[in-house]
Amino acid sequence: MQNLLDFDAEGLTAWFAEQGEKPFRAKQVLRWIHRSGVADFDAMTDIAKSLREKLKATAVIAPPTVVSDKVSEDGTRKFLIDVGNGNAVETVFIPEVERGTLCVSTQAGCALDCAFCSTGKQGFNRNLTVAEIIGQVWLANRALGAVHGDERVISNVVLMGMGEPLANFENTVTALRLMLDDNAYGLSRRRVTVSTSGLVPVMDRLRDECPVALAVSLHAPNDALRDELVPINQKYPLVELMAACRRYLEKAPRDFITFEYVMLEGVNDSDTHARQLISLVKTVPCKFNLIPFNPFPGSPFLRSPAERVRRFADILMAAGIITTTRKTRGDDIDAACGQLAGQVKDKTKRTAGRVIALKEIRP
Ligand code: SAH
Ligand code: SF4
Repeated sequence: MQNLLDFDAEGLTAWFAEQGEKPFRAKQVLRWIHRSGVADFDAMTDIAKSLREKLKATAVIAPPTVVSDKVSEDGTRKFLIDVGNGNAVETVFIPEVERGTLCVSTQAGCALDCAFCSTGKQGFNRNLTVAEIIGQVWLANRALGAVHGDERVISNVVLMGMGEPLANFENTVTALRLMLDDNAYGLSRRRVTVSTSGLVPVMDRLRDECPVALAVSLHAPNDALRDELVPINQKYPLVELMAACRRYLEKAPRDFITFEYVMLEGVNDSDTHARQLISLVKTVPCKFNLIPFNPFPGSPFLRSPAERVRRFADILMAAGIITTTRKTRGDDIDAACGQLAGQVKDKTKRTAGRVIALKEIRP
């Protein structure tokens, strides 16, 4: 059985052609699946009964299974999604006055092992399929009641959940195309953000194949410190990363890169670090998003005090860099940045925090 959630418009059209069906049929079905949130072929009322029967015999619309759905005191909603073999990933919806942002995962675990990241500490399990990535948007849309046409409950998507999107490039790009497609989710390129720890060659591919807004996880102003905190820096050091950011901006839908910077007390949060950052990024039009560190069990870091974060932001602002501090949302349900451990079983036997097999949390 073919899962139709694995296809973007081009893939679905090609698959329909193999079945002897016309492109406009593929477009109709794509709209039913993604715009109307339909999983049942019989609900596709403008599709001939004969084609519906044919589709039922050969295809399914199969999103992953939601194993839990929790709402935080601040309205943040976290879906825990079963991706098989005892693994789960998390999807987080963050409602705000002017927009609703869905934070989507791209891998079960992550191989890049950043020092302060709960997902990294779980080790890498596997890449998510297209159906599992876009399925998070599909499921959240349905859960949020946004299945009929133009209601835009989800106005923004950020690939900032579990995993490194650029390490799962093909599937991520296919899912991005669906997010952007007017016959699917119809989001603007400016409202879809890929966050990367800095896979330099793949940043170039993203720019060429599917440019969307880009966030880069910087976290340190010099190579010595970044080598420690974000080990991929040993392969792609800061000078290369900054050059890749400049190249990205040549084709990006936004005219700045967002640098994410997790504030770790006594590690990367001094005035000197802030001043080093200013000189590091002087050739890259950018904004900064400071993220107060979210602790997880066994993590060796502390969150910088609010006053330190404010002072750090002031130094960047004084140099003309727009700097925001991320509000910590959903931490009462472990949905905040870097807390997304996903109860992935620890495949690497690293000692990590909340390692709970799915069967243990099922009711
Ligand atoms: N792998 C991608 C996207 C997922 S992580 C990346 O690294 O960019 C999304 C963001 O959360 C990144 O900026 C990451 O560095 C940050 N993050 C990870 N662990 C965190 C923690 N414990 N507290 C706060 N932010 C964290
Ligand atoms: Fe992976 Fe991003 Fe976590 Fe680093 S911060 S381990 S790249 S998910």
